[in-house]
Amino acid sequence: MSLPRIVVMEQDAIRDTANVLRELKLDGDGLIVCGKHTCAFGRQIEGFLKNEYPAEVLVAGSAIMAEVERVASHAVDKSFIVAVGGGKTIDIAKLASVTANLPFISVPTAASHDGIASMRASIRLSEGTQSIEAQTPLAIIADTRIIAQAPHRLLAAGCGDIISNYTAVKDWELARKLRGEEFSEYAAALSLMSTEIIINSASQIKPNLEDSARLVLKALVSSSVAMGIAGSSRPASGSEHKFSHALDVIAPKPALHGEQCGVGTIMMAYLHDGDWQRIRQALQSIGAPVNARDLGIEDQYIVQALLHAKDVRPERYTILGEGLTRKAAEELARVTMVVG
Ligand SMILES: [Zn+2]
Repeated sequence: MSLPRIVVMEQDAIRDTANVLRELKLDGDGLIVCGKHTCAFGRQIEGFLKNEYPAEVLVAGSAIMAEVERVASHAVDKSFIVAVGGGKTIDIAKLASVTANLPFISVPTAASHDGIASMRASIRLSEGTQSIEAQTPLAIIADTRIIAQAPHRLLAAGCGDIISNYTAVKDWELARKLRGEEFSEYAAALSLMSTEIIINSASQIKPNLEDSARLVLKALVSSSVAMGIAGSSRPASGSEHKFSHALDVIAPKPALHGEQCGVGTIMMAYLHDGDWQRIRQALQSIGAPVNARDLGIEDQYIVQALLHAKDVRPERYTILGEGLTRKAAEELARVTMVVG
């Protein structure tokens, strides 16, 4: 099992960064990696660390391998990497920390997907965006004041990523039954609990509220812990993630990862004979997309992504099995009100 050692989740948590580093018994210089829009927070952390942990602040760009290597090259004489930002920055720094063989501390500025706490990172390769195994953050410092200020769209996307555990676990159960795949009851239960909490609290997830941010953060961290227990992304990634990865390749302008996964969950829940309407309602009440129009993606790409989803990570068995026919894909998208 690979789990974070310390999770701080409160208002002004970034002020605690030096305490966290001390508790982790880290010493030496640090590398603070931030994004273009999160650099102010990176500099604040540098200020909080000043006397005890001298740090270099580095602005990261696109989530591509060249950027991972550039960040890793800045880490050669450092003892730890702190990533301050949303998805991209965390992904780049997480992968660079593996290359540089350094502990990694995640300081998310938005709660848009479970990558802020998990061992996986998304990176753009020539064959499309891929989720690859990196390392679990040694600590997560989530400042609820900062996260509540992020655009609501990001928090709603985070809810979509959590709600996708619903079908991810159903796919995992299916793979256990049909393929004898190894299954963890604990990981599955924890993963589903995160989804249930978000669905049951959907009406309380509102823009710019620290309580909402905290609720979603806890669920994202629990999802990542479920993955840490399982030793794979199985508890939080199934057919709905395959659909989202297919859309990333097919759609001219893809939406956010969690937004696409949420819409994918509605459709995959229907295939599983699950309560897809309850999922749709929860996403709608949170303000997350529930159809092609909300995603800003044309209907035809939704159907194409449904047809190609089975080819994404083919070794991961899901309800998509050998794939849908075009007629079945169109029907699925129409019945669940995703298109039309
Ligand atoms: Zn995800």
